[in-house]
Amino acid sequence: MTEQITKPNIVTIDLGHRSYDINVDHNAIDTLGATLKSMFPGARFGIVTDENVEREQLPRLKKSLDAEDLQYSVVSIAAGESSKSNKTLNEVIEALLAQRLERNDIIIAFGGGVVGDLAGFASSVMRRGMDFVQVPTSLLAQVDSSVGGKTGINSPHGKNLIGAFHQPRYVAADLTALETLSERQFRAGYAEMAKYGLIDDAEFFFWLEENWREIFEGGPARAKAIAHACRAKARFVKSDEKEHGVRALLNLGHTFGHAFEAATGYSDRLLHGEAIAVGMVLAHRYSTKLGLANGQDAVRVTNHFKTVGLPTELSDIPGTLASSADLMHHIAQDKKVSRGALTFILTRGIGEAFIETGIEPNSILEFLEEQRS
Ligand code: NAD
Repeated sequence: MTEQITKPNIVTIDLGHRSYDINVDHNAIDTLGATLKSMFPGARFGIVTDENVEREQLPRLKKSLDAEDLQYSVVSIAAGESSKSNKTLNEVIEALLAQRLERNDIIIAFGGGVVGDLAGFASSVMRRGMDFVQVPTSLLAQVDSSVGGKTGINSPHGKNLIGAFHQPRYVAADLTALETLSERQFRAGYAEMAKYGLIDDAEFFFWLEENWREIFEGGPARAKAIAHACRAKARFVKSDEKEHGVRALLNLGHTFGHAFEAATGYSDRLLHGEAIAVGMVLAHRYSTKLGLANGQDAVRVTNHFKTVGLPTELSDIPGTLASSADLMHHIAQDKKVSRGALTFILTRGIGEAFIETGIEPNSILEFLEEQRS
C-alpha cells in the first residue's frame, strides 16, 4: 500500500475505445452534473434509484444536475435484492420508455449493487443498448459491482443467471454518500473489499488488518482502500473482460456465498457481502482440507472477519439453514458449473487464490456437513 491518493482520484478502466474513468472523491456527486454535461451534450438522463437512496442522497444528485440545467427523470424501486427480478426490470424499462428516453440519452444507476446491476441490464437491452453511468452509493458497489460491466438480475433458478456484459461510460464513487449507509451494509461491502487482498494481494489484506478501524470511521484510509480496490478490479477487468480466465478469481467465496443467499431467500437475513464473507472463509478451510493451504491463513481470515463483525460460520447465518443437500442443489445451479463438475476458487494462502475445475460435488457435500458440526 505505497500508492498515494491524489485528488481528484481517477482510476481508469482500460478497455480501448470503451475505456472509462472512476472518480473516487468526496464530491463526485456534486461535480457529476458538469461532467455529464461535457460528456453527453444535449442528452436527457433517466435516473434509476431505490427508496433509501432516493431519500438520503437524491437531493444532492438533483442539485448537481440542476446546476447545469440538465433534464432528467427518476424511477425509484423497492430497496433490496428481491428487486433484481424480471418483474422490476420490466417496470423500470417501461417507466423509462414512458419518459421518452431515446437511444442517445443516458441512464444513471444511482444506488447500491442492486440498482447498478438492474439499471445496467435495463440499459443494455433498451433500444438495443443505451449508454449508462454508475453512481454507486454503497461500499460494495463502489469497490466492486459498479466497475467491470457485469449487469443482470436473479432468476428463481439462481443468482445473476440473466444478464449481460455492458460497460458504463463513467463511474462516480462519492465517498460522502457512504455517510448515510448503515454499518451493517458497510461491513458487507468491506468483505468484497478484503476479497482483493485474499485473491492476489496479501499486502493489502495485512494493511486492512491494521487499518480497518480508520476505514470504518471514515478517515483517510477509507479513500485509499476504495481506490486501491477499484484499481484491483480494473486490472482484472482489463485482462479478462468477459471472464474467460483470471476474472473468475473475483468469485472467491461466491459459489458457497450464492448458495447461502439462495437458501435464505435473498433476504435481509443474509446480505450479499455477508454471504461472501462466510464463503471466503469456507474457501480457505476447504483448501486446507484438500491439503493446499496450511490452515493458519484460514484462521487468520476468520479472525479478521470476526473482529470487524462479519459472519464466518454456517451457524452465524440467522434462522434455520437449509440442509447440506439443499445447499448442494443451489451450488449445482450456480453458473460456475460445467457438465456436472464444479469450479471453485481455491487458495494456497492469503493472496494466493487460483481457479480449480473438476471439483467432485460429494467432496463439497462432505465438507459442508463437517462445517455444520
Ligand atoms: P443494495 O443495492 O441492496 O444496497 C444495500 C442497501 O443499502 C440497500 O437497502 C440500499 O437502499 C442501501 N443504500 C445504498 N446506498 C446507500 C446510501 N448511500 N445511504 C443509505 N442507504 C444506502 O446492495 P449492495 O450490497 O450495494 O449490492 C449487492 C448486489 O451487488 C448483489 O445483488 C450482488 O449480486 C451485486 N454484485 C454485483 C457485482 C457485479 O460485478 N455486477 C459484483 C458484486 C456484487
